[in-house]
Amino acid sequence: MSEDNTPLREIRINPIVPSESVLVATARAMRPRKDEDPAPRDTRRHVERCPFCPGNEAMTPPTIMAVPNEENWRIRMVENLYPVLGETPGGGLAFGLQQAIDGYGRHEVIIDNASHGIAIHEMDEAHLALLFGVYRDRMAQLYASDTRIRYVLAFKNFGPAAGASIAHTHSQIIAMPVVPENLHNELLNSRQHYQKYNQCIFCSLIDEALTFEATIYDRVSGEIRRKISVGQYVVERGEHFIAIKPFASRYEWEVHILPLQHDSDFLNITDEARADLARVMRRTMARLDAVVGGVQYNYFLHSLPRSEAYADCQAGFHWHLEICPRTSIPTGFELGSGLFVNTISPEDAAQQLREVSLDP
Ligand SMILES: [Zn+2]
Ligand SMILES: [Zn+2]
Ligand SMILES: [Zn+2]
Repeated sequence: MSEDNTPLREIRINPIVPSESVLVATARAMRPRKDEDPAPRDTRRHVERCPFCPGNEAMTPPTIMAVPNEENWRIRMVENLYPVLGETPGGGLAFGLQQAIDGYGRHEVIIDNASHGIAIHEMDEAHLALLFGVYRDRMAQLYASDTRIRYVLAFKNFGPAAGASIAHTHSQIIAMPVVPENLHNELLNSRQHYQKYNQCIFCSLIDEALTFEATIYDRVSGEIRRKISVGQYVVERGEHFIAIKPFASRYEWEVHILPLQHDSDFLNITDEARADLARVMRRTMARLDAVVGGVQYNYFLHSLPRSEAYADCQAGFHWHLEICPRTSIPTGFELGSGLFVNTISPEDAAQQLREVSLDP
């Protein structure tokens, strides 16, 4: 709802990728149908037959990396049993206009925690900092290992509603021979913005989120029509990171986490910043879990690809983590129009998230 409680209905343009837009429609009638709640997530600590639970290491492909060690691991990385991309691409069907790129790459699973059903906000911050360190180290290794790798995507599906097929908490890393389309669009658009205004659009959006204040007066009567308050999109703020509710959020509870200082590449993160990212992440996830109630989500990292083609995107692109809670299923309208429908105004959602009281 907007401030005077009239339903909001507007198409919001994504400031970073203007070809993408979202229909914010808060009237109940527009609510996408959701017949039943998503299947509940598994909250058990240990499951005897789970391949990712400690003691069952023999049930998974070999360990790639274990932290701190293989016997007493807190985080463990293995090959994916059913990789979407692999060392031996199965191609050869390209013909005429039907061109293809070999499905070369690597697909790995990071078992985030030895505890089976633990949620991110239940993990301690030191553990989360360790997990981000594992993402960073493995991404760097994969880029260094093969020049055909154009992008290394780190992501997490949590809960059946987010497509997680194994209940044990885990993340995934996919090293790809192409740069994902959505990231490519962000890179090109932010480069264009930088060339035009000499400013990183992400930095400008952070500045706006932190300091923007405006009063809109009625043109005829001169009365105040609307006040936009300071920080209305800020969900959480740390020393080095900020969690923001995007103005054109595709998902009702979507939140992005960005470093406050400009940096295009997640791989540059310092240990001190990593600790703060862990804190901002834990607190943001705790807010989402409280508001949504057992939040199920996808998150992924968008960072500068290690590719010559994007070398001049450094000044204009700002790495970020996108968290997309899954509370509804895309409908035919969304698939057919490419227009996401968001039924909660991002301003409202941000306020609800901020109002959750957390332990310090
Ligand atoms: Zn398990
Ligand atoms: Zn920036
Ligand atoms: Zn992104």
